[in-house]
Amino acid sequence: MNIRLFKPSLGEEELHAVKEAFDREWIGLGPNVNKLEEEWEKHLGCAEAIGLNSATAALHLSLAVFGFPAGKKVLVPSMTFSATASAALYNQLVPVFVDSDPDTLGISLEDLDRKYDKDCVAVIPVHYAGHPVAMEKLVPWARERNLKIIEDCAHTTGSSYKGTPLGLWGDIGCFSFEEKKLMTTGDGGMICSNDPELLKDVRAMRWVGIDKDNWKTAQKYTDANRDAMHWYYELNVLGYKYNMNDLAASIGLVQLKKLPKMNQKRAEIISQYMESISNIPNVELLVPYEPDHYVYQMFGIRVENKTEMILHLKSNGIATGSHYTPLSVQPLFSEWGHNCPYIEKEIDRCITLPLHVDISSSDIEYITDHIQQATT
Ligand SMILES: *Cc1c(COP(=O)(O)O)cnc(C)c1O
Repeated sequence: MNIRLFKPSLGEEELHAVKEAFDREWIGLGPNVNKLEEEWEKHLGCAEAIGLNSATAALHLSLAVFGFPAGKKVLVPSMTFSATASAALYNQLVPVFVDSDPDTLGISLEDLDRKYDKDCVAVIPVHYAGHPVAMEKLVPWARERNLKIIEDCAHTTGSSYKGTPLGLWGDIGCFSFEEKKLMTTGDGGMICSNDPELLKDVRAMRWVGIDKDNWKTAQKYTDANRDAMHWYYELNVLGYKYNMNDLAASIGLVQLKKLPKMNQKRAEIISQYMESISNIPNVELLVPYEPDHYVYQMFGIRVENKTEMILHLKSNGIATGSHYTPLSVQPLFSEWGHNCPYIEKEIDRCITLPLHVDISSSDIEYITDHIQQATT
C-alpha cells in the first residue's frame, strides 16, 4: 500500500494537448497562454487574468504593482506557505505575522487588528486549505485603514463565498497551478483582478519588461505590409522572467475543462472522510469543511498524539504532512517572528491526510480504519 498525499490527475487528453503544442513548434509564451487567460477570466468572472509561471510570481508582482516605499509593512498569516511572506521581502517590505483563527486556521481578525499599525500598506489573507476567510469582515476593516488586499488563492479555484468568488473580494487574487494544487500546469499561476488598470504593467513585468504579444509579433515578421519596425520594443518597467509557457498552458486548458468534475470528486472524498471521522473519538477536523459549498486543496485532522498517529499511518503506507510549520518560527523570518502563540502551539496537533482526485472510497476506508487504530 502506498497512498500519496497529493497527486495531479493527468490523462491522455493532457498528453494530446501537449503534442499539439509540439506540433505547432511554439512552446514558449504563445497562443495557449492567451487562451488559458481568456478561459480563466470566464471561469472566475474577472476582467483581467495574466498567466505566470507560479503563484509565487503572482504574489511578488501583486505587491510590486503598487510601488510601496521600501520598509513598509505587509500583514500575512503565519500559517501559510513561504511565498506569501517572501513576496513582502522580494519587494523590500516587512512581513508582519498574524495568528490564526482557532476555528478555521485562517488569518485571525482579532490579531490582525492588534498587529496593525500606521506603517502597514497591505494584507494578504490566505484561504487556508480552501476554507474562506471571513472576507465580509476583513474587507471593510482593511478599506477603513487604506490597506490593499491581495488574496492568496493557492488552495481554492474561486469558490463563491457570500455571492462573490474568492479572489475577487480584494484588489488582486493569486492562484497556483503547481502540481499539488486543485488543477495543474506542472508549474504555473494566475494573477487576477477586476481592475485592469491595476495590472496594466504586469504583461511587461512577467516578460522581461517587454509589453508585446510575442506570438502576434512573430506573425508580423513576414507580413507583406510596409512596416519595417515590427522588431521594435521599448523597456519602460523592470521585468522578470515570470511568464507561463504554451506547454504548461496546453495542460491547463484541459485541466480547466476537467475542473468541475475534479472538484466534485474532491467534495465526495471529503464527505466520506468526514462521515468516517465523526465516529472516531479524539479526532477533530483540521478546518470546518463544507464540501458542498467550497473547494478544498487539503484535508486534515487535529489530534493530541500527532507523532504516534503519523508513525502508525506511515508504517501502513499512508502519506501524511504538516501544513505548515508556522512562518513565524522559521529561521528565515525569525527577525519578525515568534509572535503567533496560538498557531505556533496548535500546529503540534495538525496532520494533513491524502487528498487527490484518484483516491478511491476503499482507500479512505483504509486510511480512516488506521486513524481509528491509532486513537488514544
Ligand atoms: C502553493 C502555494 C503558493 C505558491 O504557489 P506556486 O505556484 O508553487 O508558486 C503560495 N501560497 C500558498 C498558500 C500555497 O499553498
